[in-house]
Amino acid sequence: MARNSLAQLSSQPDTVWPAILDVIKQNINIRSFTTWFAPINLINLSDQHLELEVPNRFFSEWIENHYNDLIQNAVTQILGDSKKISFKVKNKESAPDSPYGAQDWVKSEEVKSSPSPVQSEYVFSTRINERYHFDNFIVGDNNNFASAAARAVGDAPGKTNYNPLIIYGRTGLGKTHLIQAIGNHARMNKPDTKVYYASSETFTSHFISAIQKNKVAEFSAFYRSCDILLIDDIQFFSNKGKTQEEFFHTFNDLHQNGKQIVLTSDRPINELNALEERLISRFKWGLVVDIQPPDFETRLAILRRKCDESELDIPEDILEYLAVNLVDNVRELEGALTKIMAQVTFTAAEPTIDLARSIVTEIAKPDQHILNIDTIVQYCSKVFEVSADQIRAKTRKKNIVEARKVAMYLSKELTKHSLVTIGLHFGGRDHSTVIHAIESVNERMRTEPTFRAKIESMKKHMEYNR
Ligand code: ADP
Ligand code: MG
Repeated sequence: MARNSLAQLSSQPDTVWPAILDVIKQNINIRSFTTWFAPINLINLSDQHLELEVPNRFFSEWIENHYNDLIQNAVTQILGDSKKISFKVKNKESAPDSPYGAQDWVKSEEVKSSPSPVQSEYVFSTRINERYHFDNFIVGDNNNFASAAARAVGDAPGKTNYNPLIIYGRTGLGKTHLIQAIGNHARMNKPDTKVYYASSETFTSHFISAIQKNKVAEFSAFYRSCDILLIDDIQFFSNKGKTQEEFFHTFNDLHQNGKQIVLTSDRPINELNALEERLISRFKWGLVVDIQPPDFETRLAILRRKCDESELDIPEDILEYLAVNLVDNVRELEGALTKIMAQVTFTAAEPTIDLARSIVTEIAKPDQHILNIDTIVQYCSKVFEVSADQIRAKTRKKNIVEARKVAMYLSKELTKHSLVTIGLHFGGRDHSTVIHAIESVNERMRTEPTFRAKIESMKKHMEYNR
């Protein structure tokens, strides 16, 4: 029965293509579908062969590279067997064999005759968020180099050696904030500075849509007209050959004209594997700086600053609790504050440590709810950003020793184990080593208020798991 209707279908080219499209539609998102499949027509169907008409050659290349399997599967599903698929470009008198599909459109009459290279579609807007400034960016050991470089560039765009400036770091550590601050700062000094911010994904989709609309020349002219071009998250350029090509030319053009380029990436540029070598080598012309996760003091300063900004009055021990337990990124810290703020507004109640705990648990999703020496070691390894193995090993590195001492201290405070047992859990150390660690933690808690706050918050967190 199914076979039969398939056979019937295949004898009616008019219904075949819509049926194939239906299958395709179910397998990709609607945006990709409208972009890449809606404009295609089926113009020939034979036993072995299916010919599709596409608007331009860039289309066929893109589809062959990205959707070949998808089309083949859909064809097989509807027609019962696979076919050779070929493409024909619409209204093509002669197809010039340029290596890049895009060049065909630059040559098109429409673009040649357009009165101004920068058309209405690209009305200049900076796309920067006004909220991101240097003033509200907390500087700590983790980001001071990046922030100094960003300030220098914001002060004198295109005039420093930092061109391009590339900031890399894991997600939620302030890259977007910093590059947009550069734009805001430059425009504060000189309001007519043309700053444009786009993620690499926006750049890509602008480029694709320019190709589809025969407006590549305008696209190029627009991006080349910036004084400062800020491109966020360049890791998403990976594997997008044509877009990289276009970006390469934009980059060269801006650089030659002394315009500033600032880029961010979620990893070091040497690890941007799927980026063309020539792009990577351009990136090395300038300065590459990293942002690391903030330390406890910086996290606390960020929280205080955010509270001030939102006129939020949250007790210090709660801020400390958050700063100790949300170590991975600043976005999480902000998220926790927002949640507390919502609670306080809705219930008009004082925020409590219990509330903070439940929020942290929700955000950080701790995987252990048991309190024993092992989970204490794991917890300390997370808070101090060292591995659990390092804590148990013999290493004398300062931050590892610190984590180890705190873990021993918490083990004594929070479990009923003897000093000897605790020592055994830390790579078979002697009980006198454990005593020494506990004394040293006690001593620091007496003399260093931030350290004390940190340990107390850690204790509160672990007690919750008891
Ligand atoms: P990324 O782009 O690296 O993923 P974002 O720039 O989006 O990170 O930062 C996430 C959030 O944290 C933003 O709201 C940002 O304002 C804030 N933030 C990050 N670092 C800092 C900092 N050092 N001082 C103040 N706010 C920060
Ligand atoms: Mg970002």
